[in-house]
Amino acid sequence: MKAGKLVCLGIECTAHTFGASVVNEDGEVLSDVKDVYKPPPGKGIHPREGAQHHSQVGARVVKEALERAGVNAYEVDVVAFSAGPGLGPCLRTGATLARAMAALLNKPLVRVNHAIGHIEIARLTTRVEDPLVVLVSGGHTTITTFVDGRYRVYGETLDITLGNLLDSFAREAGLPSPGGPVVEDLAKKGSKIIELPYVVKGNDVSYSGLLTAAIERLREGARLEDLCLSIQEYAFSMLAEATERALAFTEKPALLLTGGVAANERLKEIMRAVADEQGASFHVVPLKYAGDCGAQIAWTGLLHFKHGDVVAIEESFVKPRWRLDEVDVPWRGG
Ligand code: AMP
Ligand code: MG
Repeated sequence: MKAGKLVCLGIECTAHTFGASVVNEDGEVLSDVKDVYKPPPGKGIHPREGAQHHSQVGARVVKEALERAGVNAYEVDVVAFSAGPGLGPCLRTGATLARAMAALLNKPLVRVNHAIGHIEIARLTTRVEDPLVVLVSGGHTTITTFVDGRYRVYGETLDITLGNLLDSFAREAGLPSPGGPVVEDLAKKGSKIIELPYVVKGNDVSYSGLLTAAIERLREGARLEDLCLSIQEYAFSMLAEATERALAFTEKPALLLTGGVAANERLKEIMRAVADEQGASFHVVPLKYAGDCGAQIAWTGLLHFKHGDVVAIEESFVKPRWRLDEVDVPWRGG
């Protein structure tokens, strides 16, 4: 029930996931519904097919989110959608639905940067105020923290993301999608580290050479479990090195891990050790909000809305390459 509090309907649509969620101004997630596109075996997401999936499930997912929240569509105070970064056709499908809802209900529309959504849902659910954030997902590998009005990037991948590395390797190995959890399971049965490229440049990491080498080792007949173990150890250690340096430099009191890859137990273990070493507390986004979801958009949309940050429908174009450090974050002060 609404009971006088502002509520936001958020729509997530950057890649595989079409999500919708209703969140109120106290940060209570009243509903969070999703339907995730699964590409055919051995294939990555084709943007047009992802968009087609979203257009097929979108109306039902939004309806279910409203029903589960016990909120009538006309009680929604603001409609938010993920405007980027992401795949153009997927973004445009979600945007079209969000615009239609805002126009029909005569309610304000807000664009949310998807990466900031991952950060804010993690801050909300862990109640950690001012962390150094490590965002690891299909679309991001970014070390960031809030400074002077924006999230600033202290390190990132120079090429593919951590999620991409795991998913692409899994695909090459004929494993099901998403690859991350499957690689994690197989890694537990690994017993030997196979040498792979370790590339950290300044505070940035590079994973494409690691992927190429791992695929080569696979073709040469290396044991899959050992390769999964080795990929994780190399990839996570590289990120840990960059994170440790950023934590030492920024002197933040807390380290917060968020995004889909934050579900990985070994990564959590390594990042916890980094935080301990630097005297920072360690936090991880709850599993149900780790991957892409409507709640990250609904909550961040509400934060923008409360600071008057709305967009006219005719100007609400999507931004497939929208970087998180281009976005003003007025709710953090300063
Ligand atoms: P997102 O883009 O935030 O939805 O995150 C999706 C990414 O998280 C995909 O690349 C998945 O393979 C990855 N992922 C999900 N669970 C795990 C896991 N347990 N270990 C590693 N990666 C994971
Ligand atoms: Mg994501």
